[in-house]
Amino acid sequence: MKFENSLAFAHTLDRQDPLRTYRKSFRIPRHSGRPVIYFTGNSLGLQPVGAAAFVKQELNDWARLGVDGHLHAKRPWLHYHKFFTRNLAKLTGAKPHEVVAMNQLTVNLHLLMVSFYRPTATRFKILSEAGAFSSDMYAIESQLRFHGYDPARAWIELRPRPGEYTLRTDDIVKAIEDNGPSLALVLFSGVQYYTGQFFNIPAITRAAHAVGAVAGFDLAHAVGNVPLNLHDDDVDFAVWCSYKYLNSGPGSVAGAFVHERHGRNFSLPRFAGWWGHEEAERFKMRRGFKAMAGAEGWQVSNFPVLAGAAQLAALEIFNKAGLKPLRRKSILLTGYLEYLLKEMGEKNFCIITPSGADERGCQLSVLMKRKGREVYRKLLKSGVMADWREPDVIRLAPVPLYNTFEEVYRFAKIFRNALKTS
Ligand SMILES: *Cc1c(COP(=O)(O)O)cnc(C)c1O
Repeated sequence: MKFENSLAFAHTLDRQDPLRTYRKSFRIPRHSGRPVIYFTGNSLGLQPVGAAAFVKQELNDWARLGVDGHLHAKRPWLHYHKFFTRNLAKLTGAKPHEVVAMNQLTVNLHLLMVSFYRPTATRFKILSEAGAFSSDMYAIESQLRFHGYDPARAWIELRPRPGEYTLRTDDIVKAIEDNGPSLALVLFSGVQYYTGQFFNIPAITRAAHAVGAVAGFDLAHAVGNVPLNLHDDDVDFAVWCSYKYLNSGPGSVAGAFVHERHGRNFSLPRFAGWWGHEEAERFKMRRGFKAMAGAEGWQVSNFPVLAGAAQLAALEIFNKAGLKPLRRKSILLTGYLEYLLKEMGEKNFCIITPSGADERGCQLSVLMKRKGREVYRKLLKSGVMADWREPDVIRLAPVPLYNTFEEVYRFAKIFRNALKTS
């Protein structure tokens, strides 16, 4: 599409947007009496209007039924995680028995690394992108140490070429090939939190499998943002959180994917708990753990119903809006933001997110060459909620469910002004 730098053009795009009514399904924070320009859905997605009713339902059922809510609540708590399965499978391109809602992201990463990082004397290394999210780095370091390895020796972090900000798929594949016999696990983000790069999941998975390594992904910034085909891509395992693009509320329940190839492999080591035990026998309270088949067999504890309830409201919205229309709008919306930023002639900043639509989601990371913090503070003062990542990046995420083309246009004006006066 040929974009234009005018409010009238932005309004035209908004009028033509088939998803424009979804903005009303979210509660938008206000600043000086008007809705903020909320570009931080990659950090915490906005609250679905319907979330309160879902949470209230559980509070009411708890008040009314006490412990009997496990069986007699409108959505019985005993099976609560199952209410997420169908929609999570759709969002991740998985079969229903390959996904489960449980725990928090980093916890799930640890649980799945217990099963899928199985180092041997010769094959023990983990390969990931450099500059991964802190929690993932800590998980990798501590898992390596847990198995008796020195992270300095057993962890390969891939850096972009000098002068580049993101990794080339060819370079990732080559690094996997070069380290082949020593690689136990290739662990990448789906979408990189800092650069916004959407990694080529099938290519990385193929390369990992070709050398005999396992392929796992952290989809924190990918789920609800970009199309995923975890089953067909043959990914071994994946984890995600739900409070970013999934709009499920702070600390809401995370998710995990285990490919069906592994779902009945009961010899995989795992850290077990009663919720992963064979359902029919869960309350027999006997020794002898028998894992459920599929991803559910990795559950440990009973489901946090109050935290999870809001997520049901959010998943309903995704289900109605549809991932394909969302992605179409997302590409346009981010493309428009990129166009307007480039119109300014990037002197004081540059966009480090890849410019190809299939290499990014709805985030643009703007690297500030000077006065970055000052510009960022001015954005906040003008009613823009964006986020600042050390050392020098402003991340902007126009989210197709609730952001508009007009907001992108207004943001660009505010940003230009902040640059001029800093
Ligand atoms: C947001 C995020 C996390 C957060 O982990 P929690 O366990 O949910 O607190 C971890 N990893 C990545 C890549 C993230 O983007």
